[in-house]
Amino acid sequence: MKKMSYEPVIGLEVHVQMATDSKIFCTCSNKFGSEPNTNVCPVCLGMPGVLPVLNEKVVEYTVKAGLALNCQIRTKSVFARKNYFYPDLPKAYQISQYELPICEHGYIDIELEDGTQKRIGITRIHIEEDAGKLNHEDGYSLVDLNRTGTPLMEIVSEPDLRSAEEAKAYLTKLKTILEYVEVSDCNMEEGSMRCDANVSIRPDSNAPFGTRAEIKNVNSFRNVERAIKHEQKRQEKVLSEGGKVVQETRLFNADTGTTASMRGKEDAHDYRYFPDPDLVPIVLEDKFINDLKEWMPELPDAKRARFISEYGLPGIDADFLVSVKAYAEYFEQAVKAHNNPKGVCNWVMGELMRRLNDKQCTIFEAGITPEHLAEVVKLIDEGKISGNIAKQVFDESAETGKKPSAIVEEKGLVQNSNEDELENIVRQVLEANPAETERFKNGEAKLQGFFMGQIMKASKGKANPGIVAPILKKLTS
Ligand SMILES: [Zn+2]
Repeated sequence: MKKMSYEPVIGLEVHVQMATDSKIFCTCSNKFGSEPNTNVCPVCLGMPGVLPVLNEKVVEYTVKAGLALNCQIRTKSVFARKNYFYPDLPKAYQISQYELPICEHGYIDIELEDGTQKRIGITRIHIEEDAGKLNHEDGYSLVDLNRTGTPLMEIVSEPDLRSAEEAKAYLTKLKTILEYVEVSDCNMEEGSMRCDANVSIRPDSNAPFGTRAEIKNVNSFRNVERAIKHEQKRQEKVLSEGGKVVQETRLFNADTGTTASMRGKEDAHDYRYFPDPDLVPIVLEDKFINDLKEWMPELPDAKRARFISEYGLPGIDADFLVSVKAYAEYFEQAVKAHNNPKGVCNWVMGELMRRLNDKQCTIFEAGITPEHLAEVVKLIDEGKISGNIAKQVFDESAETGKKPSAIVEEKGLVQNSNEDELENIVRQVLEANPAETERFKNGEAKLQGFFMGQIMKASKGKANPGIVAPILKKLTS
């Protein structure tokens, strides 16, 4: 039997923890990593009779995200209670938004592998509170309620994604945009960005959507990709064996790379949503929204276009620089100090990234300031140091914080461009290698590299290659 091929249909629900100082409905600290149950009060513990008071920052952050994701901002939105029982949720309901979310009808443009762009719709962004956390240790289950009442925004995409790779591109872009508007640190390891994936498959792109399975709480971009790929295969197998995909919630196991059923069909009515009687509707004034529009920073797509037109960078370089806001800032500071955008960009993407990987630090913690990196590039451009020496100067500047020009001076690393001295060195190298010299003279061109290496060694890396090459040619022809 011919194997059927299917097209996956994927929608993502991303929970983003907002980087506010305090929680959503009380003044408890929103800090990650505190001792269990130290950041709690009667409100977030869900004691009877307490009243939640909305943290205004939460509205501000959500509207910022909504504007950055091209959403319409609803001037009146309401909170709802989502009722369910679970040990990490003392009041047995979660305050969320249901019918009237604060942001709707947005989109993100993602880059596909073939270089084209695709627009992914965003259905809604709504505000909700997080639940607590269960820690299972030595046969006990311990409840930590520090996380209850942490402000979340849930960003729900349209089912516009058609592969695991597109899902990853969407998440990457989403994370970048949220970092630009400074509403979350988007740290997946610490749970500040969590993703549920709705996956179904269909025989071709004209067929109606298949029955979907929801994969819960996947905690890294790589795992989202793995989980979707696995789920796609699992559903194909079910259909090819004549079975039916059932609507259910599944959990991804990162160790085995597989998904397993967690619970059956679940719909909104299972939660008995109803308006929260303790919270008034959120009513936004035009001025509030307009002020935030004015505040909006330049976003990645606009920055990318500007880097290409203003600095003449290739698209791939611009993509890299805008992928992290701090990279773009660092780059622009360095270019201000020395106007060679491509040269600066190459050093950021090369040596500086190598250092970031080694040190596991951020770009502004790498030890070398944008001005010092610019000076390294300037010293090369002026012919004062060779590329090899430059790496040495870069490392030392990053380690000690010293100015690159001071290091070059101090250590006598200035490139040697003195023709007489270099001719002497070339002669010595040729005399020391008579057999190779003979072969080189007889036309064995690949020995060029050998001689250049020997000359560099003899000059302790300081020979100016632009001057050495013609001397070598003259003496061997
Ligand atoms: Zn509290």
